[in-house]
Amino acid sequence: MRKKSKKQLKHLQAILLVIVVVLLGMIWSINELSSSSASAELIVSPNKTTAMQQETSQHYKIVIDAGHGGKDPGADGASGKRERAYTLALSKKVFDLLQQEPMFDVYMTRTDDTFVDLDDRVKLANDLDAEAFVSIHGNTYTDPEVSGTETYYYADDSIPFAREVHEHLVEATGFKDRGVRKEDWKVLTQSNNLAILLEVGYLTNRSDETNMLSDKHQDRTAAAIVNGIKEYFADRERLDK
Ligand SMILES: [Zn+2]
Repeated sequence: MRKKSKKQLKHLQAILLVIVVVLLGMIWSINELSSSSASAELIVSPNKTTAMQQETSQHYKIVIDAGHGGKDPGADGASGKRERAYTLALSKKVFDLLQQEPMFDVYMTRTDDTFVDLDDRVKLANDLDAEAFVSIHGNTYTDPEVSGTETYYYADDSIPFAREVHEHLVEATGFKDRGVRKEDWKVLTQSNNLAILLEVGYLTNRSDETNMLSDKHQDRTAAAIVNGIKEYFADRERLDK
């Protein structure tokens, strides 16, 4: 009986040893698996980072300023129509398009035909600490022959932004390129951040005005302004990384 139980014990030991070996083997293979999945994770991590960066990517605050309004009608167009209506129509289109872009938070200095003081327009942008202030205008001149697109800035920091938007704007308007110019207008000099003023075309020029008052031309112009803004901030984001 004792002998038998000793034999049984040995048998049991052998079984236990087999179990231990099998268990060790299992633990080893689990380790292998988890380490290989860890390295797989490392390989996909660049994609993960990109997704995270997209989620946390910055929101740029943009203020769209429809020039004039209310008691300040702005330029008298060749047809007798006033600048304030044109700037509001185009600004609304720019606003609507920018709102569809997840990288932007968009604001307007006026949404209807009301008078807004120049100081208040700049104050809105500065209080928001908006990355960019874009003022939209139609030009005027005593000589009705003068036509074309101009973009204005004051601070040197705004030059690259002015150039980018101007390039798109000129292409879309199809008007004469009258360049990017420096001017000490209040809305430009008082802005703490990027500030530009677009003189899309000359409302006093019959051909410019006819184009500018057409819905199609306004859609094209608005899309160009938005593309210019988008490209500038996409470039800046790339440089920041
Ligand atoms: Zn104006």
